[in-house]
Amino acid sequence: MTTRAQRYDAVVTRREPVSPHLVRLTLSVPGFESTGILDEWVGLVVPGQFQVRYYTVRSLDGDELVLDVVIHDVGLVTEWASGDCVGDSLVITAAQGSFSPPAGAAWLLLVGDLTAMPAMARISRASTVPTRVWAEVPDDLAGYLPDGTDVTWLEPPAAEGRSRLAEVVEGIDWPEGDGYFWMAGESAQMRAIRKHLMRVRRLPNTAYDVMGYWRAVTSRQPRSVDPGPIWRAGKAAGKSDEQIWAAYDEARGG
Ligand SMILES: Cc1cc2nc3c(=O)[nH]c(=O)nc-3n(C[C@H](O)[C@H](O)[C@H](O)COP(=O)(O)OP(=O)(O)OC[C@H]3O[C@@H](n4cnc5c(N)ncnc54)[C@H](O)[C@@H]3O)c2cc1C
Repeated sequence: MTTRAQRYDAVVTRREPVSPHLVRLTLSVPGFESTGILDEWVGLVVPGQFQVRYYTVRSLDGDELVLDVVIHDVGLVTEWASGDCVGDSLVITAAQGSFSPPAGAAWLLLVGDLTAMPAMARISRASTVPTRVWAEVPDDLAGYLPDGTDVTWLEPPAAEGRSRLAEVVEGIDWPEGDGYFWMAGESAQMRAIRKHLMRVRRLPNTAYDVMGYWRAVTSRQPRSVDPGPIWRAGKAAGKSDEQIWAAYDEARGG
């Protein structure tokens, strides 16, 4: 573990392609502490960078963490994970999680795109109640979810960064009784779905968890900003790395 609290030094020990858009990385992370929450994620700071990107812990075995990384058009982690990164050292932040079904939830509905697959796989494996999954993915991921999972595979629209998950959720035939709805994917879709769950389905906010995992490019492109001065000013002001990254995102228009 690094000297700074809640940060770990990690080394990539294995890299395996799972499908054309998904790469599996195994990290050795001495001292790693899991939250035990089924959708837990860590922040990754890849070599030569200080920006953090978040990835779900798909599975773990002691100090070994498995992350499945989506390879998309262009991106900091995408580029790094596309190359031979075995042996690279990186820093990861402490795990956090959000999946929290109410006691007595009698079913689970899980909806997501490729970035949500690691969490949906881990949740499905541990689930003890009837669980349905809707997965909008560009690749054939047969075998990715546990055997017997009740899954509907959906093809994403042709343009990268587009999704129809909001429409899909509006069309779900909702099970009877109380359960839990978990969903992750592109941020704009998630906003639409939260509105639907609140205004149409009138669910209490304890009955669902809807997370924007990434943001598609819109006409409002992030501005190109040199992170150096923000980093130095933040450090001089005694800000945490998280605060500096937030300031950087804000400066880019985020
Ligand atoms: C809690 C949490 C858990 C997550 N778990 C996972 C996970 O297990 N696996 C995983 O792959 N991702 C996961 N993500 C999403 C991941 O953090 C983002 O996709 C991230 O932006 C990827 O970083 P990058 O450096 O490759 O691209 P960036 O440098 O962040 O982005 C560059 C450009 O790529 C576009 N972009 C970003 N992500 C995608 C995408 N998935 N598809 C298409 N275009 C994209 C953006 O519009 C952006 O303009 C998670 C996010 C959160 C918040």
